[in-house]
Amino acid sequence: MRGFKLKMHWKILIGMILGLLFGLLMKSIEQKGLIIDWIKPFGIIFINLLKMIAVPLILVSLINGLADLKDISKLSKLGGRTISLYLSTTVIAVTIGLILANVINPGSFINEASRESLLQNFASDAAQKIEIASQTKNNGPLQPLIDIVPSNVFHAMTDNASMLQVILFAILIGIGLISIKRKQAKPVVKFFKGLNEVILKMIDFIMLAAPIGVFALMAALIVEIPDFTTLQALLVYALTVVLGLGLMMFIVYPTLLYSFAKVKPKRFFNAIAPAQLLAFSTSSSAATLPVTMECVTENLGVDDEVASFVLPLGATVNMDGTSLYQAVAAVFIAQAMGIHLDLSAQLMIVLTASLASIGSAAVPSAGMVMLVIVLGQAGIPEAGLALIFAIDRPLDMCRTAVNVTGDSAVSGIVASSIGKLHTKKSNLFD
Ligand code: ASP
Repeated sequence: MRGFKLKMHWKILIGMILGLLFGLLMKSIEQKGLIIDWIKPFGIIFINLLKMIAVPLILVSLINGLADLKDISKLSKLGGRTISLYLSTTVIAVTIGLILANVINPGSFINEASRESLLQNFASDAAQKIEIASQTKNNGPLQPLIDIVPSNVFHAMTDNASMLQVILFAILIGIGLISIKRKQAKPVVKFFKGLNEVILKMIDFIMLAAPIGVFALMAALIVEIPDFTTLQALLVYALTVVLGLGLMMFIVYPTLLYSFAKVKPKRFFNAIAPAQLLAFSTSSSAATLPVTMECVTENLGVDDEVASFVLPLGATVNMDGTSLYQAVAAVFIAQAMGIHLDLSAQLMIVLTASLASIGSAAVPSAGMVMLVIVLGQAGIPEAGLALIFAIDRPLDMCRTAVNVTGDSAVSGIVASSIGKLHTKKSNLFD
């Protein structure tokens, strides 16, 4: 792959633009079926390839990284810093979302007629999400803790939604490796090091198909999203979310990275552009994880042992874009339905949206399912979800890009804080 003139992010961007144009063309000549039957499957295959590699990558790279730490106190330092940064960025994101939603008041821009038609047209789609969320809602308060510990690790590894369980298992193996005699640990570590190299090579191969994959995904997206007339009523709401996400991506993360790790914005964005574009096209932080790992280690210079711990954890629990979106969406639905949210209700949203984003799976539209819980806690009718359904996919793409950017930024800050941020090694995917 190295030696190609065009950088990977340009190839992906060109794939996306061509996909958009092709989708528009096919839509205009009413050939939607052609895209769904013959183009979209290539997008699905590409996402599946990435998801296929995600669990082995997390397991192997985390074991590798931990074995390199050589002592457990380093792990607790790494863990403590990572979790506090993840929590802080999530709270910043929800707060930005709430401030923007209150200042802009997007709910006042939707008229009675559009509100009724949206509520009616998307009632059954919303009901489906509410149904999925109700399964989570009936759980006890400590259920998330129980869910982290697998009763059968092979079972956990067969389910991409059980990433935290795989992470826990890998951490335990890593701790075991650090704790036994070096001589005994050596062959095991060597095996995982070799396997890690193989997996990284596989990701390189999969990424060769990225431009075609994103072409197919974008073409399918264009023919599947509702018409612009439906979306028009939601324009101010969508712009509010995008503005908030833009502030996170272009102001908050670069400022944090520069202040704590002296990483210039240009270097940061150059390094992670392929991961951001892929997150945007796939709407899944989990599917993007293999590429995020490579961008952050190879291009940004974050040490493997930091990236392999911080990023899989972040893909599963740190979703700043999702939490910001949930805050704006909750307030928007309340405004559109004429429900007043007082200060205590809004503070409650800070808490529930932070928790809901942690609980959201790293897959398309998961944030919307967890939004049901935020609405329920704030006393906003869950059926209001129908109002935002039509525009959710494009917003999902944007918030996933922010989620991945947040994870990458935190990995840079944590790495720098323990002296594990190197100057740029090479530019991967060039
Ligand atoms: N699609 C998002 C992600 O994978 C989650 C969400 O729906 O907000 O990060």
